Amino acid sequence: MNLIDLHTHTTASDGSLSPTELVNLARRLDLKAVAVTDHDTMAGLPEALAAGRALNYEVIPGIEISAEFRPGSMHILGYFIDPADPNLNQRLGELQQARRTRNIQMLTKLNALGLAASMEDIEAAAGGGQIGRPHFARVMTAKGFVAEPNQAFELYLKRGRPAHVEKFRLNPPEALTLIRRAGGLPVLAHPATLRLNGLEALENLVTGLKNQGLAGLEVYYSDHTPQMAADFLALARKFDLLPTGGSDFHGQNKPGVDLGRGRGDLAVPYDFLAGLKQQKGKA
Ligand code: AMP
Ligand code: FE
Ligand code: FE
Ligand code: ZN
Repeated sequence: MNLIDLHTHTTASDGSLSPTELVNLARRLDLKAVAVTDHDTMAGLPEALAAGRALNYEVIPGIEISAEFRPGSMHILGYFIDPADPNLNQRLGELQQARRTRNIQMLTKLNALGLAASMEDIEAAAGGGQIGRPHFARVMTAKGFVAEPNQAFELYLKRGRPAHVEKFRLNPPEALTLIRRAGGLPVLAHPATLRLNGLEALENLVTGLKNQGLAGLEVYYSDHTPQMAADFLALARKFDLLPTGGSDFHGQNKPGVDLGRGRGDLAVPYDFLAGLKQQKGKA
């Protein structure tokens, strides 16, 4: 079977591989295509697309936008977006600005809690890309403040913990509209993280999102059980949404999740990408 990966992160957000390294790895693993879907930024796309052209390898420009949602988290993937789209760039710029303010607030809290680190330390961990909690976790670990990055989240950085600061997020309809207007196809990522109560609640949510422009549902994902994957695939078919899948590869920043293979048994067929391309062609 021809396998692909439609959910990956680079150093432009919180992955550990540069866009070029990611594309090279995808080709070396014999994946037939890879989508780059960094959190709230398109900064890695020009380099990823150039790497694809240089290797004659299929790279899909994407993004993963965090949207406002409770109780869990809602991430909306966008495929085939135009990296030069002015509206999307403008709004993402505002998210970056909000992030900078939030990073200062988180650092101030951590300093008050006893962490001896400066914003330069955090910036160094981010390597020039967008700064977020994973980079704080790395510095906290390196300074011996916590034993490992996951502990930094559990004790300090997650919602309800003392260094947590809420992130500014777009609301779901705005995220869907921005992606559509940038020529992209919006896809609801890893539905399990929404923390909805049962499949019926997901059906209700998806009905509303579809009316607002949703095109697809991420059915194969590293943390989906076979039962979840089967349920989400059936739901996608029922609501005429395109099924997609990906690993959520972050390189060394998410140990145990491999490009293309997830936690070992992920297999995303090229057919899923063919479906997206067919839909994109109709737009
Ligand atoms: P931020 O956008 O700054 O809120 O950071 C969110 C990122 O942190 C996610 O994309 C994950 O990569 C990472 N993350 C969230 N929770 C955890 C956790 N418990 N352990 C490790 N990484 C996490
Ligand atoms: Fe991430
Ligand atoms: Fe996500
Ligand atoms: Zn992701």
